[in-house]
Amino acid sequence: HSELTPSGNKKKNLVILGSGWGSISLLKNLDTTLYNVTIISPRNYFLFTPLLPSVPTGTVDLKSIVEPVRTITRRSNGEVIYIEAEATSIDPATKTITYKHTKDHEGNPVDSRFETSISYDYLVVGVGAKVGTFGTPGVDKHACFLKEGYDSTKIRRKLLDCIEQANLLPEDDPERKRLLTTIVVGGGPTGVELAGELQDYVEQDLSRWVPTIAPQIKVTLLEAMPKILAMFDKTLIDYAAQILAESNIDLQTNTMVKKVDETNVYASVKQADGSSKMVTLPYGLLVWATGNATREVITDLFKKIPEQANARRGLLLDDYLKVQGSDDIYALGDCTFTKYAPTAQVAHQEGVYLAELFHNLAKVDELKFELSKSVLDTEKTNKLNRKLTRASKLEPFKYVHFGALAYIGSEKAIADLTWKDWQTFQSGGLFTYIFWKTAYVSMCLSVRNKVLVCVDWSKTAIFGRDTSN
Ligand code: FAD
Ligand code: NAD
Repeated sequence: HSELTPSGNKKKNLVILGSGWGSISLLKNLDTTLYNVTIISPRNYFLFTPLLPSVPTGTVDLKSIVEPVRTITRRSNGEVIYIEAEATSIDPATKTITYKHTKDHEGNPVDSRFETSISYDYLVVGVGAKVGTFGTPGVDKHACFLKEGYDSTKIRRKLLDCIEQANLLPEDDPERKRLLTTIVVGGGPTGVELAGELQDYVEQDLSRWVPTIAPQIKVTLLEAMPKILAMFDKTLIDYAAQILAESNIDLQTNTMVKKVDETNVYASVKQADGSSKMVTLPYGLLVWATGNATREVITDLFKKIPEQANARRGLLLDDYLKVQGSDDIYALGDCTFTKYAPTAQVAHQEGVYLAELFHNLAKVDELKFELSKSVLDTEKTNKLNRKLTRASKLEPFKYVHFGALAYIGSEKAIADLTWKDWQTFQSGGLFTYIFWKTAYVSMCLSVRNKVLVCVDWSKTAIFGRDTSN
């Protein structure tokens, strides 16, 4: 890092944690010549999560939806240092971050004794969230998740292993039936999109490549609440439930999973009379998609800032995305708790806003330095002071909601779109599916990603999906 700005002022150290939607949006929009920028993240790539549910079945290749962090940092106008590690602790008193390497590229823990620290002037926390298991026994040990790139590979391997193992068993063997049952827990968009993709795989590909097995493969979607996809409009929720039913996805609502073991899911089903009964559901592949939980590095930070004492679901922020109770820590995305839903759309806009905020902070810093440099005449001092007042003004963060989109399988999608503050437009079906595809391609981070995703979709349409693991 070059230590000084062109006017001789000392550059501040800006440390960014995470390489997801929030942090990368900040990095891409930031003039990185203004700070000594360091980005710390265990994931050395940006992952385009909206298309992650398409990866386990091979509709889209994992590499098509990732962009290496170093490609992004190389394109920045100033030098950006990338450190592949996980922040294990943030100390607001000494303004330091401790970090170490904790996982390999398949998500397995590594025992690294090499822990080190870095100091910051400004810190941006964009570490996202982990999958919430809410302490449900057995989930961590037996279920797959759908959060990281390697999760999609695990799901695929497990699914294809189950199919090959079932193929060795006689048709009437209950073990065969168990192996061919995939249970997805959580009827939010992650669970619904994955269930839709899995069912497409069965109907469009496995029915051709393993015709004796495909009719017995069952995808079950379990949801604790009476309805799936809570954030969508009621008509779209009903439409989605109807499409899932038509495509043979076994949707069971009012079904809350309480426990999981190696072969069974134990769930409490709410009856019409208000009572509950326990059911046991055997499974071969289990995917857990019940939403977000706070990462340890964040819960640890709650304890160090008195104003965060009541925080549970994420860091509490002021209107400028500054962490309440801190002067130099900012946060964005899923590791925060705001009035907005934890989505990519929100994290992205917060990143754009923070880039502008940091430009302002640098300008203010520079003007203060000019004012302190030497004895200035009154006219120059007044001029600089006026500039300083202007630069210190920044509007609070304002989120613009464009709507929500979700794929529901069978080449159908739902869209709940917002235009300005007052108009909403709901649609579902094939046309929406084409819109969904167009919108997601246009949102991919790089031209390379856009081209690769289109190539993958074309390959799937022409040759079908692959069945090798
Ligand atoms: P993330 O994008 O999760 O990034 C967090 C980053 O922090 C990662 O790079 C991670 O490796 C890193 N990190 C983790 N721990 C540490 C640590 N201790 N120190 C340093 N770095 C750390 N939203 C939508 O709006 N539309 C969609 O269609 C959509 N589809 C989705 C599909 C799936 C399957 C999933 C899982 C989510 C989807 N979302 C979607 C939600 C969206 O992905 C999140 O809201 C968004 O990723 C949040 O951005 P973020 O930057 O806060 O966190
Ligand atoms: P979610 O929080 O939206 O949904 C989780 C679902 O799991 C809920 O409906 C909940 O009732 C259910 N659940 C919780 N515990 C359960 C249990 N024990 N048994 C059965 N069901 C249980 O989670 P998500 O789908 O992972 O989404 C997380 C965030 O990411 C959300 O903000 C979402 O909007 C966003 N996201 C958006 C899209 C999209 O826009 N297409 C796609 C994926 C994720």
